[in-house]
Amino acid sequence: MKIFTAYLCHETNSFSPVPTNLESFRELGIHRPGMDPEAQGNPLKVASAFFGEARRRGDTVVVGLCAHAQPAHPTRRETWDTLRDWLLEDLRQSADGLDMVLIMMHGAMMAEGCDDCEGDMLARIREIVGPDMPVGLLLDLHCNISEAMLRHATVVKACKEYPHTDFDERARELYDLCARTARGEIRPVAGFRRVPMFGLFQTQRAPMRGFIDGLLARERSGELLSVTLGHGFPWADCPDAGASVIAYTDGDAERADAAALETAKAFYALRETGQARLDGIDACLDRALAAPEGTVVIADMSDNPGGGAGSDSTFILRRLLERGIDKALVAYVWDPVAVDMAFAAGEGATLPLRIGGKVGPGSGDPLDLEVTIEALRTDAEQAHIADGEPTALGRTALVSAGGVQIVLNTIRQQPFSPVGLEECGAAPWDQRIVVVKSSHHFYNQFHQRAAEVLYCDAPGTLQSDISRLPYRHITRPVWPLDELSPEDAFADGPPPATQAGAA
Ligand SMILES: [Zn+2]
Repeated sequence: MKIFTAYLCHETNSFSPVPTNLESFRELGIHRPGMDPEAQGNPLKVASAFFGEARRRGDTVVVGLCAHAQPAHPTRRETWDTLRDWLLEDLRQSADGLDMVLIMMHGAMMAEGCDDCEGDMLARIREIVGPDMPVGLLLDLHCNISEAMLRHATVVKACKEYPHTDFDERARELYDLCARTARGEIRPVAGFRRVPMFGLFQTQRAPMRGFIDGLLARERSGELLSVTLGHGFPWADCPDAGASVIAYTDGDAERADAAALETAKAFYALRETGQARLDGIDACLDRALAAPEGTVVIADMSDNPGGGAGSDSTFILRRLLERGIDKALVAYVWDPVAVDMAFAAGEGATLPLRIGGKVGPGSGDPLDLEVTIEALRTDAEQAHIADGEPTALGRTALVSAGGVQIVLNTIRQQPFSPVGLEECGAAPWDQRIVVVKSSHHFYNQFHQRAAEVLYCDAPGTLQSDISRLPYRHITRPVWPLDELSPEDAFADGPPPATQAGAA
């Protein structure tokens, strides 16, 4: 079998002030055909799972464009056109004798003038390969599924775990489903239901854990070829934003729809209990100070760069300093100018430094501090949550003021692991409080050693009160912006079932 695979990802936050251009993708690395797919640190990400599976099966594999950028504002039009056309050109170049296409995209990518980049890409891929070739689309679970994605892909599948630790498994499953379709062994038919809700659903704790395990069991038993929860990405201001369920059966549209509806209703029932408890800044700090010993980790969810925030807000840092709380650490604060000044001053120097509060209103006001430069690094990295590959943090400066340490950096990234903080010169487990600018991806690497993990609803780009966002294009009603009973949430009839490669 001959496989083409490619990867193009961006999670788009319509309300993020951070622009997305070609440089944003270059910052995290762009792979083109001809580069070594097995090279260390290659920006292949999930395409490497498809690549590895092809090698294991003895299939021939061509790796096309692989690129992703940190979540931010919709991608500039010329950048989207360029990247999309590179991927399509790579596909055309390898179309001879091709049996199958496997694409990884985020599922919530928007560009200027294009609200559904995945749907647009899949439609163009379908034009090139024709109606019969299996095309698999792998997504992040924070996806806003569109009708075009379902129509043009043979199977759409998302990761199931948040933090996203299962891309490899889902990639292998998608590979298998498409390969079986190519051999004529199965005929995947999708049932699809929107779940009219916005939220962030952590999967490693009850009740979501049991729900996900139930879905995995239904796939393992063979009852369903695949069942995917799209959690939705609420900060994408487009009509498809929100949660959804896709269930695939082997040729049975009625059963696929019934499974999607039943799963959608069960998911909607978890809209409140499936989300973490959030507290305000002072409540989090009070709880952390009440911990008898150890390090309390506080997630500054509202300033998570992984959701498009600036990662330079000062709200929690300001309260730490105002309250005189020492033995605290805040990371990573994206502030290239402050890093420049720290490098210019040198390790051990003390200087007045203006920190954070620069990207937009969600960043708050900058803080003017008298800081000591504790450590400067040019090569700090952390393992990426999705594939464990080393991910650069840029130039980093560990500075301290009033007993609070701050890790400043030049590549906007959320902390995935305490090892990354240690590489910057910090000692996270010597602190009473570690504030991570992350919604949840930090969790797996921090929670075992943390005395407690708290989720903070500080002000910021991703603050939980989404009723304040200036939405213009989302589909209403949607919970929690609208009160919606379970009956009303699924009052509409089923959308038409979609079938592999249907025009
Ligand atoms: Zn995600």
